[in-house]
Formats: sequence, C-alpha cells, structure tokens
Amino acid sequence: RAKSLGKSNFQFFDDSLEASSQFHLYLENQLRSAIEKAQFSLVFQPKVCLKTQKVTAFEALIRWFDEGGNFVSPADFIPLAEQTGLIEKVGSWVLEATCQQIKSWKDLGLPLLPVAINVSPVEFNCQGLVDRFRQALEKYGIPGEMLEIEITESVFFEDMNKMSEILQKLRELGITVAVDDFGTGFSSLQYLHQLPIDVLKIDRSFIIDLEGNSHNEAIADTILTLARNLKLTVVAEGVETQASIDFLSERGCELAQGYFFYKPMQASDVTALLINH
Ligand code: C2E
Ligand code: MG
Ligand code: MG
Ligand code: MG
Repeated sequence: RAKSLGKSNFQFFDDSLEASSQFHLYLENQLRSAIEKAQFSLVFQPKVCLKTQKVTAFEALIRWFDEGGNFVSPADFIPLAEQTGLIEKVGSWVLEATCQQIKSWKDLGLPLLPVAINVSPVEFNCQGLVDRFRQALEKYGIPGEMLEIEITESVFFEDMNKMSEILQKLRELGITVAVDDFGTGFSSLQYLHQLPIDVLKIDRSFIIDLEGNSHNEAIADTILTLARNLKLTVVAEGVETQASIDFLSERGCELAQGYFFYKPMQASDVTALLINH
C-alpha cells in the first residue's frame, strides 16, 4: 500500500516505521534496566462481595515509572516483555513481590485475604511455572490459598492436556485459577469443562456501559448463566456505576472490582484496610 502512494509518501511511511521501531528498542532497553534495578512496584485492587459489600481478595497490578519518572502502562510494556522474552523476569518479580507483601501482612498479624497475580500466557508456556510458585510459597511461608492466578483465554490455544496438568498442579498448591478478560478471546466452551478453573472474570468492556446497552447486558447475562451451570464464581471487572452493580447483583454475580468501590491502591492503604477488616 505504501508503494502505491508514491515515492515521497513511501519515504514518510518508512521514516515513521523506523522511528517506531527505534522507540521499541529504546523502551526495551529501559525495561531491561528496570528489571535489573527492580524499578517496579505493585498496587492492589480490592475484589468486593456484592452481597456483603466486604473486600474478599485483591488483585496485584504492576507499576513501572521509567528513569524520567514517567508512568508506563502495563498494557504497553507487558506485551513488549512478552515479545522480547523478558516476561519471565517480570513475572518472577511480581510473584516474589506479592509473596513478600503477603508475608509482611502476615507478620503484622493481620487477617489475610488472597491476592491474585496476572500470569501472561507466554509465561505460562515457560518451563517451571509451578516450581516457581511452589518455591515462592515455601520461601515466604504462606499458604497457596493466599494466591490466585489470572490467565487469559489465549492460554487455552495451547496443548489442552499440558494446560490442564499445570493448572491442576497449581490448584493442588491451593491456588485459585481465574480466567481474566472473559468473553474477549476466541475460546471453545469445551475447555471450561475440561480445565480446572474456579473463576470467570467478565471483561471490563462488557461492564463499562452495562446499563442500557442491550448487547452488553445479554453478554453479561449469558456469562453469569454459564458460570452458574458450571459452578464457577464470577467477578465483574471495571464496575463504575451503581446501575451496573444492581444489574449484576440481581443476576447473582458474586464479586466485583472497579473504581466504583476502589481504585488500585498502595500496599500501605491495604494495610489500613486490613486493620479495619
Ligand atoms: P487486567 O488484569 O484485566 O486488570 C484490570 C485493569 O483494569 C487494570 O489496569 C485496572 O487498573 C483497571 N481497572 C480496574 N477497575 C477499573 C474501572 O473501574 N475502570 C477502568 N477504566 N479501569 C479499571 P492496569 O493496572 O493498567 O493493567 C492493565 C493490564 O495489564 C491488566 O489487565 C493485565 O492484563 C496487565 N497487567 C497488569 N499487571 C500485570 C502483572 O503484574 N503481570 C502481567 N502479566 N500482566 C499485568
Ligand atoms: Mg487481571
Ligand atoms: Mg481483566
Ligand atoms: Mg486485561
């Protein structure tokens, strides 16, 4: 297509492509150095029970501010980490940091609530994922029941038996398995039966304008019915309005996460929340 636009346009096209690949390389180098220096932090977003309005768990979300102090969204650098083979290191950092944080809440004598970790599908395909989880739990002396993993549907494109085995082993450690962004991927409903899964998280895109959007209402409704039949727990992601909470509660959705209740928060704010729990 670029060629048909003529030479000068082609040149322009080429330059911007060059610029973007250079930016890519720049960001990759920044990410490498961030990994070396462990320049990441975690924030935690509460998951709330819709019946009791109580916080029942948290999701750990990685944060990165580059050398210049600029916020880089995980939606940008996680895909980059996946493409460049850096995801295992990022994932290891997240696992360690999460377990360390849970341990320090435990040491304070606080009532513990499970924390969910996002595991990239790429990371899921690396060797030794289960061992890494087992070792981290042992190292920090925390029960597996205090961890959940969130995986996306793309994991299920892989060898079904292999995935099933890995998930089963994680479950044997006590770890809860959730499918993140549910409804956005292309997946056979078959795997929901075959794989050891505990939770479906309805993707934010279906929740964000739930009220009055009949398309989204139908999708949320269908996922809730499906989950009930398969005896899976449902978490609605990205809940921002009372109207969407009403819709979800009426249809038996157990848990919700979103700015309506809490934004992702610093560990110190979680400590305060746990003290009052
Ligand atoms: P996700 O796992 O689906 O996480 C939910 C995202 O929605 C988070 O964005 C969260 O801050 C945001 N969110 C929560 N409630 C609301 C709401 O009410 N409204 C809106 N507009 N947004 C809400 P965040 O932290 O930017 O993360 C984006 C994605 O990056 C995550 O999606 C996840 O796929 C990935 N990610 C984040 N942390 C990690 C990590 O530690 N490891 C891996 N592998 N991926 C991560
Ligand atoms: Mg998630
Ligand atoms: Mg999600
Ligand atoms: Mg997501």
